[in-house]
Amino acid sequence: MVQDLRSLNMEEMGIISDKLGVPRYRAQQLFHWVFYKAVSDIDQMTNLPKLFRMSLKESYYISNILVKNKQVASQDNTTKLLLQLEDGETIETVLMNYENRNHQRDRATVCISSQVGCKMGCVFCATGLSGWKRNLTVGEIIGQIMAAQSISQIAVRNVVLMGMGEPLLNFDNVVKAVRLMNHEDGLDIGGRRITISTCGLVPQIMKLAEEGLSLVLAISLHGATDSVRGELMPINAKYPLKELIKACKYYVEKTGRRVTFEYALMKNINSSVKDAEHLGRLLAAVNCNVNLIPINPVVEAGFIRPSVQEIDRFKKVLEVMGVNVNIREEKGTDIDAACGQLRSRSLK
Ligand code: SF4
Repeated sequence: MVQDLRSLNMEEMGIISDKLGVPRYRAQQLFHWVFYKAVSDIDQMTNLPKLFRMSLKESYYISNILVKNKQVASQDNTTKLLLQLEDGETIETVLMNYENRNHQRDRATVCISSQVGCKMGCVFCATGLSGWKRNLTVGEIIGQIMAAQSISQIAVRNVVLMGMGEPLLNFDNVVKAVRLMNHEDGLDIGGRRITISTCGLVPQIMKLAEEGLSLVLAISLHGATDSVRGELMPINAKYPLKELIKACKYYVEKTGRRVTFEYALMKNINSSVKDAEHLGRLLAAVNCNVNLIPINPVVEAGFIRPSVQEIDRFKKVLEVMGVNVNIREEKGTDIDAACGQLRSRSLK
């Protein structure tokens, strides 16, 4: 069976070079072609000896991801890609451009998927509606960044694993892909520019704390009591808030990094002053940031976005309680913006 070079790290490429009888520096060249130059064909690696390339092609290849559909938001150029994998499955990747203080678009962020579909069943999320198929390979995780870069005028310098799927359920592949993103001879994206978002898998959060990665951990919280969160996120029954907060504190202690909590504001569900007070109390002793995200209307779920006044009031309550809080800039609101929407539409 042929193996995808995009799923291999430097050490594994070193083993290939030993096996094929070429010096170790060839492995470094190979790694550079695969991840830095992002070539799609072994024959493009022109500084590798022809014989080495021929031997490589007998057992290795570079996986190919096709851009099947593309939507561009008119107001901010956010681009949502529907990507087709080699087995015909589809996933979503979103490319976003942010402005610096001088209003120049100088950095691109890509939001990538970690699984085909998702089994976590969060009720506000379109991804869960079409079920779970499989984990993505390391090459498929990395390949999304390359696909996004190929259509971006600006270098992709930030990666968020917030697309389809629960990244920590694909733990080994995600951690390996993050190390490849990080590698200075590869994509060279700093750990602080990589975010993993989880719905709150307690054992995996503890495990991630031991990996020695200086990335950003984001927790999808969305409810500040077990009753509210439990209605929105089935995972809360298995790992209730007390356990989740304990795991987050452990993560902060082990890594020295703040945790980010994502809180989608939904009218009549979790956006009242009382909800804000619950949230402030819950996070009082956690070194964290809170991102408030006024929900995008997901047709299937029918949630309502709170008014601007309600959002501001919620934020002020948290500020008074000493919580670091931001309202997340919305991106691509005139395209299918919530995770899973583009894919679920294409499946219909
Ligand atoms: S919000 Fe994330 S974890 Fe929850 S169903 Fe959607 S993709 Fe899965």
